[in-house]
Amino acid sequence: MLEIKNLHVALEEEDKQILKGVDLTVDAGQVHAIMGPNGSGKSTLSYVLSGKDGYEVTDGSATLDGEDILDMEPEERAAAGLFLAFQYPVEIPGVGNMTFLRTAVNAQRKARGEDEMSAGDFLKFIRAKAKELQIDADMLKRPVNVGFSGGEKKRNEILQMAMLEPKMCILDETDSGLDVDAMKLVAEGVNALRSEGRSFLVITHYQRLLDHIKPDVVHIMANGRIIKSGGPELALEVENNGYADLLAEVA
Ligand code: ADP
Ligand code: MG
Ligand code: MG
Repeated sequence: MLEIKNLHVALEEEDKQILKGVDLTVDAGQVHAIMGPNGSGKSTLSYVLSGKDGYEVTDGSATLDGEDILDMEPEERAAAGLFLAFQYPVEIPGVGNMTFLRTAVNAQRKARGEDEMSAGDFLKFIRAKAKELQIDADMLKRPVNVGFSGGEKKRNEILQMAMLEPKMCILDETDSGLDVDAMKLVAEGVNALRSEGRSFLVITHYQRLLDHIKPDVVHIMANGRIIKSGGPELALEVENNGYADLLAEVA
């Protein structure tokens, strides 16, 4: 599904190397988690994969189903099936959530060479997805994220993800700032969307999220590289011992 090889990334503005050779393969249907100290490059990896400006790929490659994604425009990546849930979802005053989602869905269909969804079909589609994720119909009518609680914003990200039906979902600290109940809702949303043809890359600081989203593989990232990979027990080890031992091991 997602294959990252020897990825090196620098900042465009300053001469600073952030990713220093990331290797990562996520198979179809798998959930991988990335943990690691602050500043290790986790968000940079998700930004580079989604096509955010300001970063320069200096070496290596990233492919989705064999297609080079680093050469694509952000909307082409979305059409290819990549989705990034943001750590800090943006508020868009004056734009209704439903309108926003309909525009996003139709833009993606257009990029895939498919017909627009009719208003009626879209309404059925969004209602079904909202119901599946236990999202209140009222949230669909409000302006995007405006006045949403932390938990509602994250749930709205999950709804966007459900609507766009991506193949590869990247969640960057979608659990940060959430209380335990809201975190469980995010986890349940992800679990509801798990399927054979869909993979997840979940970036998190907290082992407790991984109690609810059971990952197949856990990676530890430090200083722009993945320094260790293992099963869910690796997340527990980090929770109990911190990163110091792992960093010392690598050094
Ligand atoms: P993480 O998500 O693991 O906390 P980041 O990817 O956010 O790490 O950051 C990795 C490193 O790159 C940090 O040292 C951060 O300060 C630096 N960095 C990332 N983006 C920028 C930027 N736009 N300008 C300056 N430094 C940046
Ligand atoms: Mg950070
Ligand atoms: Mg980050």
